[in-house]
Amino acid sequence: MRIDIITVLPELIESPLNHSIVKRARDKGLVEINLINLRDFTNDRYKTVDDYAFGGGAGMVMMIEPVFKAIEKLKNERNYDEIIYTSPDGEKLTQKIANQLSLKKNILILAGHYKGVDQRIRDHLITREISIGDYVLSGGELPAAIITDAIVRLIPGAISDEQSALSDSFQDDLLAPPVYTRPSEFNGWKVPDILLSGNTREIENWRHEQSLERTRLLRPDLLED
Ligand code: SAH
Repeated sequence: MRIDIITVLPELIESPLNHSIVKRARDKGLVEINLINLRDFTNDRYKTVDDYAFGGGAGMVMMIEPVFKAIEKLKNERNYDEIIYTSPDGEKLTQKIANQLSLKKNILILAGHYKGVDQRIRDHLITREISIGDYVLSGGELPAAIITDAIVRLIPGAISDEQSALSDSFQDDLLAPPVYTRPSEFNGWKVPDILLSGNTREIENWRHEQSLERTRLLRPDLLED
C-alpha cells in the first residue's frame, strides 16, 4: 500500500507517522508513506501557495496551480484509488471508512491549509472528502496523519497480534471492554476475579458482556445501527 500526502507543512506530519505501529509498518514495507511539499510545485521565488479570496473577506486560499500540478504529476505516475481532501464539511471519519480505505492500494491525501483549497480542485480532482470531527483545526496536516494512522494499523501484519485490532472499539459496532494489568491489587483496588481465573471461555464471555454494557451506557447509538 502507498499513501501520498500533499502538504504545505511536511514537518507537522512527519513525527506522528514515524513512531509506534505506523513506523513499524513502514519499516516492514507494509506501507510506503510519502510527504509531498506543495511548495515544490511553485514557480516564484517566494514559493507562494496561497492568495487572497475572490470576493474579499478574511483569510487566504490555497492556490489552484501548485495543487493541480502536484496532483497531476502523481496521477501520471500511478492510479489512485482515492484522492482525499481533509475538510471539516466532509464525511466524518469512522472505523468503517478506515476499514474500507485499508483495502486500497494507492491513496493520495491533500491536506488543506489557510481558508481551504480553491473549490475547483474539490470539484474536479478530489474523489472523497473526510472530516475528523465537528471542529476546525488550523490545517489538514493532523487530520491527514490521523486518517493515515487509522488506516495503517489495520493493514494485516501492522499489529503483531492481529486479534488486537479486531478487538478494538468500533469493530462490530461495540466499544472495547476494560483492560487491566499487574498488580492485581493496588491501593485496595482489585482486578475483576474472572480475569485471574484462567478460564479463557468465561473471560471471553465476560469481555463481550462488558463491551455490550459499555456500549449501551456510553454509545447506545452504535447498537441502533
Ligand atoms: N474555512 C474552512 C476551514 C479551514 S481550516 C471551513 O470553515 O470549513 C484549514 C484547513 O484545515 C481545512 O482546509 C482543512 O483541510 C483542515 N481542517 C480543519 N479542520 C478539519 C477537520 N475537522 N477535519 C478535517 N480537516 C480539517
